[in-house]
Formats: sequence, C-alpha cells, structure tokens
Amino acid sequence: MDQTNYSYHIRYSFFKTISEVATDMQVQAFVIGGFVRDILLDRDCTDVDIVTSGDGILLAEECAKRLKVKKVAVFKTFGTAMFHFHEWQLEFVGARKESYSSDSRNPAVTPGTLEDDQLRRDFTINALALGLNEADFGILIDPFLGRSDLDAGLIRTPLDPAITFTDDPLRMMRAIRFATQLDFRIVPGTLEAISANAKRISIISKERISDELNKILLTKKPSIGFLLLEETGLLELIFPQLRALKGAEYIDGKGHKDNFRHTLEVVDRIAPNTDNLWLRWSALLHDIAKPVTKRFDTETGWTFHGHEFKGMKMIPSIFASLKLPMNEKMKYVQKMVQLHLRPIVLSEEEVTDSAVRRLLFEAGEDIDDLMTLCEADITSKNAEKVKRYMKNFEIVRQKLKEIEEKDKLRNWQPPVSGELIMETFGIEPCKTVGIIKTAIREAILEGEIHNEFGEAYQFMLVAGKSLGLVPVNQ
Ligand code: ATP
Repeated sequence: MDQTNYSYHIRYSFFKTISEVATDMQVQAFVIGGFVRDILLDRDCTDVDIVTSGDGILLAEECAKRLKVKKVAVFKTFGTAMFHFHEWQLEFVGARKESYSSDSRNPAVTPGTLEDDQLRRDFTINALALGLNEADFGILIDPFLGRSDLDAGLIRTPLDPAITFTDDPLRMMRAIRFATQLDFRIVPGTLEAISANAKRISIISKERISDELNKILLTKKPSIGFLLLEETGLLELIFPQLRALKGAEYIDGKGHKDNFRHTLEVVDRIAPNTDNLWLRWSALLHDIAKPVTKRFDTETGWTFHGHEFKGMKMIPSIFASLKLPMNEKMKYVQKMVQLHLRPIVLSEEEVTDSAVRRLLFEAGEDIDDLMTLCEADITSKNAEKVKRYMKNFEIVRQKLKEIEEKDKLRNWQPPVSGELIMETFGIEPCKTVGIIKTAIREAILEGEIHNEFGEAYQFMLVAGKSLGLVPVNQ
C-alpha cells in the first residue's frame, strides 16, 4: 500500500470540516474519482465527489450547515446531495454497489463498501480515493493500482473490461476521451474489449455520445481520440460520414490523399489557435462531402468539385443525427464549410479588392475564424508550398483589414432599404425592388460606389430609370 500522505492536496478548509462532521456522525468519508486523479496529475479540478459509509444526504446537509452554505440540492432517488462552496462543487453519496441488466446503462444500486464503490468506477485512475477521517486523512486507498497506471499513463478498467463495457457502453467513449485528454494509452486488453463490444454503443443516447465527441474535440490533440474511435470500430457506428473519409483510392496509378488523415491534421492544427468548439467542428467537417463528390478524370485525376457546397448541405442531417444544436451554431459551421476554399482561391490569384470585398460580405463577423480554418487546412508536406500559402494568407488578411476599414462590410446592411426604393418610385413590393437592391449590392462589392447612403441613393435612381421607373416627386 502506498503510505504517502496526500493531505497537502486536500488542505482546503472544507475537507477538514467534512472530516470533523464524519467523525461526529461516526461514519467514514472519502474523496474519490476525478478529483483525486486530477490533483495527482496537477490538473485543476473543482468537482469534488465524497463517498461515505453512512448516508450521503445527511453528511452533505451537516457539512453545509457547518460551512454556512444555505442551499443544498438533494436528489432523494439517487441518494445524493450537492452544494457549492466558493468555487467548489461538492457532491455526496453513500458507498454503493451496482448490478446491471443488458438493455440499460442504469444499474440497480444497493448500499456497499468503499471497495464496492471503487469497483463500479470505470477506470483504475478514476477509482482512487483519499481517506478523510482522522485516522486516514490524506491516505490513498488504491485497491486497483490506479496510482501506478496514472504514473505510467494507462487507461485500464478495474474489472474485466468486457463486463465494464457491456454494463455501461458509454465507458468506451470515456476511455477514448480520457486517453485523448490526458494523452494516455489504453492498455491492450481494454482496447480489445472496446472493439469487441463496440456495437453496444447503440444503447447510449446520441446526446451523451456527442458530449464525449465535444470533449475530444476540445483537447490539445483531438486526432488521438478520432483515430482510436476509428480503430475500435466505434466511429463507423456513431459517425459513418467521418469514417467514409478514410482511405485513398487509386486509378491508373493516381491516388488522392487520405481525407480522414488530412481532416485530423487540420483539427490538430486548428486546436492551438482556437477554443471555439464550433470552429473545431468546422475543421472536422470541412471536407465531409469529399467522398460523395469524388470523381476521376483521366486528364485531371481526382476531383472533389463542389464538396464545400455539398458539405454545407450535409451538415443539418449530421447535426440532427448527433443531436447537436440545430441553431446558429450549426449555421456558423455551415458557413465555414461552404466558404472554406475561398481564401485559398483568393490567395492563389492576384488578390483584387472586389474579391476581398465579396469574401468580407459573405463571411461577415466570422471572417477571422474562416482565415484560421484556412490556415489550418494547409497540410502540405512541401515546406515551400506551405510558406507560399501562408505568405499569401498574410496578404489576404492585410487586404481584408484595409477594405474593412474603408468599406465596413463585416456587418453589411443595405445602405438603401427596400422600403425607400418602393417609396421613391411609388411601387408595391415586387421583383423589381429585389433587382435594384441586388444591383446596389453588386456595385458596392465591385467597388463602383462606396458603401454609404448618398452614393447608393444616386445609384438607385439611375438603376430605377434604366428599368423604366420614374421617381414620384420629380
Ligand atoms: P469529467 O469531469 O472530465 O467528465 P470526471 O471523471 O472527472 O470527468 P465525472 O464524469 O463527473 O468526472 O465522473 C466522476 C467520477 O465518477 C469518475 O472519475 C468515475 O470515478 C465515476 N464515473 C463517471 N462516469 C462513470 C461511468 N460511466 N462508469 C463508471 N464510473 C463513472
């Protein structure tokens, strides 16, 4: 047994209070799970799970009283209680034993010992507990050798992994998520059990699956997780469209790049530059339509024409199937996917003002995110090529800045409204109003007129006249 005393890690006053209350109530108390794992890894963690040999709710209520915390959330059905103390969230529960049935991940729960409680945890590194009573304050209770797995960077189940994963298949996603977050390795037996039980993922709700996908995407190196999902067969089951990117086809000796690898590289490349989950989703989905738009031409080789447009169209059904939000977040991802080639095309040609103006107009507020995505999309192994693209992107960024300062197109609103067009020419709502509005917008984007009311109004008069309209007050 590890006799190191970890009381330094639980030096916060509330642990002392829990200790005193537990002694007074003649029960044992332990801090367990993610908190212990994280303090031993020097990671920040403010969620504290307390397990007791007594009644979790009573212990929580008494601790809250002594800590002068007024609000305790009690969940009678689960026998748990929770309260906040400064930045900490403390959750209390009686030690429990679990037994599972085959069609649900929700077990039948009965009271148990601390060891029963540790045994029901998903991984050895998540089953560590520290004693909180006077006699064992700060002593590590580690029946499954989680400490040495933590030191070695290993994800391993305390039970036979086949049982752990059939009982609750969400743990397969959690194993991969922890491996990604902590940059740990899943031990071979546990990894094989994920592959063998992958189909059980079907009993897990889509929301929980995408919650884990989001956590994987928000790590430093999301590719670790997506490669593991692919390798274990989970990806094909939970996200077949992403799996379809894998592989390279060859015709007449000509192949295309493996778009799965490329996509993961882009996601890893964007990670240091943004914590915006939806921009990371955009990176993951930017080439999602490549498999369905792929064509081979004997002269030009492989093409993926229109994959950005088709990809944009595929996103609502992907978001719906993963139960991701079908709101402005989704629209943002659609916009990013649709526009993801534009800055590259722009940087390949001579960067004209009107092309930059059009891009600004279409990307609006999200132009900087789009540039971040495009920069991450340059995954060529040819250093010269990468350098050239990056330099061109610098020029595009500079031009974008200049034009935005001049023309203010980011949040573009038509300087002349449809109402004013109707009023000016005394017409009812009709197609002509749209034609004039479009003509004004095009004139602005082409740089024929400035983006301001006076010039736009004059232009409207000319455009109306060319359509046979006469202003009413003339
Ligand atoms: P995170 O907060 O990043 O999701 P965590 O492990 O710190 O991860 P929770 O998911 O809240 O936090 O879980 C707390 C603890 O409960 C875990 O450390 C683990 O011991 C246990 N646990 C959570 N989910 C499961 C599960 N599906 N099966 C078994 N044990 C679990």
